[in-house]
Amino acid sequence: METISEVKTRVYRFGNKTADGNSKMKNLLGGKGANLAEMSAIGIPVPPGFTITTEVCTEYNELGKNKVVKYIKDEVKQAIKNIEGIMGTKFGDPENPLLISVRSGARVSMPGMMDTVLNLGLNDEVISGLVEKTKNERFAWDSYRRFIQMYGGVVLGMKPETKEDIDPFEEIMEHLKDKRNIELDTEFTVQDLQDLVYDFKDAVKKQTGHDFPLDPWDQLWGAIMAVFDSWNGDRAIYYRKMNGYPADWGTAVNVQAMVYGNMGQNSGTGVCFTRDAGTGENVFNGEYLINAQGEDVVAGVRTPQQITKLGSERWALLAQVKEAERAANYPSLEELMPAIFSELNDYQEKLEKHYRDMQDMEFTIQEGKLWILQTRNGKRTGAAMVKIAVDLLKEGQIDEKEALMRIEPNKLDELLHPVFDTRSINKDNIIAQGLPASPGAATGQIVFFADEADKYKYTILTRIETSPEDLEGMNIAKGILTARGGMTSHAAVVARGMGKCCVSGAGALKIDYKNRVLRVDNKEYHEGDWISLNGSTGNIIEGKVPTMEPELSGEFAEIMKLSDKYRTMKVRTNADTPKDAKAARNFGAEGIGLTRTEHMFFEVDRIRAMREMILADTIKGRKAALRDLLPMQRSDFEGIFEAMKGFPVTIRLLDPPLHEFVPHQLATQKELAEDLHISLASVKNKVADLQEFNPMLGHRGCRLGITYPEITEMQTRAIIEAALNLKEKGIEVIPEIMVPLVGTVMEFVSQENVIRSTAQKVFKERKDSVEYLVGTMIEIPRAALMADQIAEHADFFSFGTNDLTQMTYGYSRDDAGSFLGIYLKEGILTSDPFEVLDQEGVGQLVEMGTERGRKTKPDLKVGICGEHGGEPSSVDFCYRTGLNYVSCSPFRVPIARIAAAQAAIS
Ligand code: ADP
Ligand code: MG
Ligand code: MG
Repeated sequence: METISEVKTRVYRFGNKTADGNSKMKNLLGGKGANLAEMSAIGIPVPPGFTITTEVCTEYNELGKNKVVKYIKDEVKQAIKNIEGIMGTKFGDPENPLLISVRSGARVSMPGMMDTVLNLGLNDEVISGLVEKTKNERFAWDSYRRFIQMYGGVVLGMKPETKEDIDPFEEIMEHLKDKRNIELDTEFTVQDLQDLVYDFKDAVKKQTGHDFPLDPWDQLWGAIMAVFDSWNGDRAIYYRKMNGYPADWGTAVNVQAMVYGNMGQNSGTGVCFTRDAGTGENVFNGEYLINAQGEDVVAGVRTPQQITKLGSERWALLAQVKEAERAANYPSLEELMPAIFSELNDYQEKLEKHYRDMQDMEFTIQEGKLWILQTRNGKRTGAAMVKIAVDLLKEGQIDEKEALMRIEPNKLDELLHPVFDTRSINKDNIIAQGLPASPGAATGQIVFFADEADKYKYTILTRIETSPEDLEGMNIAKGILTARGGMTSHAAVVARGMGKCCVSGAGALKIDYKNRVLRVDNKEYHEGDWISLNGSTGNIIEGKVPTMEPELSGEFAEIMKLSDKYRTMKVRTNADTPKDAKAARNFGAEGIGLTRTEHMFFEVDRIRAMREMILADTIKGRKAALRDLLPMQRSDFEGIFEAMKGFPVTIRLLDPPLHEFVPHQLATQKELAEDLHISLASVKNKVADLQEFNPMLGHRGCRLGITYPEITEMQTRAIIEAALNLKEKGIEVIPEIMVPLVGTVMEFVSQENVIRSTAQKVFKERKDSVEYLVGTMIEIPRAALMADQIAEHADFFSFGTNDLTQMTYGYSRDDAGSFLGIYLKEGILTSDPFEVLDQEGVGQLVEMGTERGRKTKPDLKVGICGEHGGEPSSVDFCYRTGLNYVSCSPFRVPIARIAAAQAAIS
């Protein structure tokens, strides 16, 4: 019986200027497949082929190989026939063979994370046909040995066993090179290549217990299933986790006629970008290799050459290659093959216009004919992301809204970090010069292996070259340094995607993994030594280099300004000091959503007065200590108000349990006792008294202010007096006094009374007054439920989503570490609710609190001041819920501004 699922289309063809699919079908065809179809349809020369959909991958995971082969067999056979028709060749035919590649491709590009097999269809008979047809024995045997090598690794699991081991096939090749006393792959004779093929096949038999499959159809099914399997490989899983892509997307499989860049001096392969992926500069750039195939450019085995003459000259300058040598040994494609270059240049222009974004393309030249093998929106650094969006807007390719939507808010983070103070770098400190592969400044201790990137707190992963296996270590390290590989090497591409500082292709470095040493000229650097990388210049510098704040001008400022045009929700900051407040204003904060007053008490001179207050046995004693604290708090508030001139400032009254302020070590307890002229026993007793089983649910928040109203009085006085003092100086401020941890209306009312009567008293004394608000934090679930009643008294609400999350889930923030990791790994939670607001659950309380509060007071001002205020998806939620503002740490203010603009646009 046929079920519906058996009749849907599972295979989409492309080639010969037509296609079944198009670029919008990324979910079904994967990014690579959708773009191959699109390119074919708009007349770009793409080798013909077909895409097996991502749905089939899901079916494969559920039903297994046999079922899936049954489902797709006929469609795949027809599609192979279609390629045969276009190419005039036949799959598995020794007389006139068609060879194919089998490529992975998920809906988003995951460079190098999954597997690809090239030259599929070769066997002991087909090889003779290939020799006959191409009259090129070298090429044919080179293709065969590459095929066995790739198929062996990807499909048959022939991998190195430990990190010190090398690839089993590489080992055989190294062995032969030693024997023949040669260095490069290109020096192998035809006989050598034939020997390699036999040795490779032997090795496969030995390691796997099976013969290498010689039937092309067996090869094809094996490769298709291996690509599906690679979706669940370690690398792919890690990459998905890092980027938050769900496991059920699956990968598509692209099967495509082979074209050959390894057919001689008239052939080659390369990678190019329509703009600079590091800086965003609008220059076409890329790298190529003559007589090479597939990953050769990316793998960094030979030094690739530049595509454009301009790029080649820039490269020569950095690599310290003289012009004559450059022109002779490393000419650009523009110089070497001007006609091909001009065709490629046309395609890159056409593709960028078509997709209206920077493209990252792969191409191959086969005996003077150009083929495009891939295009995708290029990965880029945060800086390039901003510049490209602004430039495309100015060029009229996209409009303002689209420019804003092109910004990934979290990637702005890269631009907000310190850069090297280049004045402190001199020539003698520079160890060597590499390529500026991914901008940024990184300082750390040298490690040589990716799985040791966490050996020190700050590490620089130093490798001859990197491979997709190194992904996790690259993510952990502060910076990446490689001796080999160009601007499009694996290290460079991945680092730019992560926004991680990277210097690549520093040829002067000699890396000795065995002894864990880096040698340059006559100097040695060992594991654990400190070095610094400047990813913007390619400098590798000895030791630690001081940093300075980045400048936020140019395109960054333009995009931020644009975001304010579309944004309707305000963005405030959480700041406890005038310094933070000033920094946040520079980033565009429109007020403070949370000042935590307790931080002011931790400084040395204050903690003493604070402790005296806590240890006091009488109200009188407590008041005396509070009198000492008053002027300190007042001057802090003056500083903050002044930094935030003209903007609202929300100040939260004392919140944490008093236990956090008293000393716990005997020595400090003794000191305190002496200092305050009381007995050690009484200090100890008080500390013991304050000990709680559940401090987060204990004597804290407004519970403190209710039991010790004199604390609330002092803090209110400090706030109001500070505001009056500034008013005298002509600076207007509207303090918003916030009562923490309210769960019942009466808690709020009781504190409100203390605040208002204190303010009145101060106004009377000073014969002057200021406007001020009294509101509350909504951070206990009960407060959200009772919001309508609380709003009868409160002037504003601010959702404290850290505590609200803690109390809604019942997860202690301080103890959740012991199980959250497992929850995330097991998929019990999809994200850490303390980082990303749980819209489904905790979000209901935010919605309910807002709605009920506004039912009582329609113009109630509502904001959020938890960590979530700077997290893009949470900002979007706050916008949809109708909040007036979000508040976040100073460095996240630009991120929140963009996220708020995007929320308003979409
Ligand atoms: P990735 O997604 O890791 O980039 P690809 O599927 O793009 O993997 O393939 C790896 C390499 O093989 C690329 O350099 C690509 O250009 C090359 N390649 C893939 N298919 C073909 C083909 N049909 N002919 C020639 N080269 C190919
Ligand atoms: Mg690719
Ligand atoms: Mg709280």
